[in-house]
Amino acid sequence: MHEMGIVASILDASVEAASKQGAARITEIKISVGELTEIQEFALDFAFTSMTPGTMAEGATLTVNHIGASSRCVSCDIEFEHGRFEIVCPTCGGFLCELLTGRELTIDSIEIDDAPLGAEPSEGDETDKDGSDADTASGAGE
Ligand SMILES: [Zn+2]
Repeated sequence: MHEMGIVASILDASVEAASKQGAARITEIKISVGELTEIQEFALDFAFTSMTPGTMAEGATLTVNHIGASSRCVSCDIEFEHGRFEIVCPTCGGFLCELLTGRELTIDSIEIDDAPLGAEPSEGDETDKDGSDADTASGAGE
């Protein structure tokens, strides 16, 4: 499934960004998806839900912002919105148009939580060594 690879990329980038900020976990990832990418949102959700367990983004929400397709006519220099297949200038009827939006696949923002997950590991373990003939006084240092 195409969406699995997309979600894997989104997760990679998000986890990396969140880690750099010292986050403990990711609570929400907001992305923009252009209409022309033909990405299925339900497939994205499915991939996200199945791939996040065990990562920083476990339990996070994936919010998808849909971006419609739009182009600019090369002749008229006007911008217009259009569907997937009818990229025709509404003014002159020309087909020579430059695509402006519709192919986006970007991460807009990441909500993170820097709350610690648990207690910090204790470092008070004494290492026993064989061969010491001296009586070790118990140090109460913490
Ligand atoms: Zn035109």
